[in-house]
Amino acid sequence: MRPALVIFDCDGVLVDSEPISNRLFVAHLNRAGFPFTLEECYRELLGRSMASCEALLAARFGRKLPEGFIAALQADTYAALAAEVETMPGVPAALDALEAAGLPYCVASSGEFAKMRATLGRTGLLPRFEGRMFSATQVARGKPHPDLFLHAAAEMRAGPARCAVIEDSVPGIRAAAAAGMRALGYAGGTHADAGGLAAEGAETFSEMSALPRLLGIS
Ligand SMILES: [Mg+2]
Repeated sequence: MRPALVIFDCDGVLVDSEPISNRLFVAHLNRAGFPFTLEECYRELLGRSMASCEALLAARFGRKLPEGFIAALQADTYAALAAEVETMPGVPAALDALEAAGLPYCVASSGEFAKMRATLGRTGLLPRFEGRMFSATQVARGKPHPDLFLHAAAEMRAGPARCAVIEDSVPGIRAAAAAGMRALGYAGGTHADAGGLAAEGAETFSEMSALPRLLGIS
């Protein structure tokens, strides 16, 4: 069924930022004396807000991240993203199809606005999302809680039951389900985990070219 609003996750859905972000996250953790592997980073932190990552890491290691850690990591990450990140394959064409069908869309990310501006700016997608960007920093609880998607839907004047969410992470799929929204699991990235997304009840797909059909506009 055709939704009233499509809510895109940003990292790993619109832009191929996860390989860059996770590589730098692990490098900074290891340098600060926290033994954490790339595989663990993808499995445990993917799709979560920085506040949520901080809490998980503190619980796991029994000590907090050092003073200034997040600021240094974010500065390094945003610079690398602004220089290197690319769109996920087929994203501009999929957005063209939504626009041609008059189907509104927005982005709702666990990342900060500065991160979205870096990645969407570098890839040329930013003009399409001006005024339609929402960040976990605007709500009390990040994904897997429904707060961010409900905030985006309210701002875009769409009822939750008529929203479709495009997500690549398990916390994101859980957040969509908790918000009462249709969850579409994009498993086209290098970190794709179609089985994990499907286990959460998402309809999975791996090519953006399939999106117009899944959304009932082609
Ligand atoms: Mg994501």
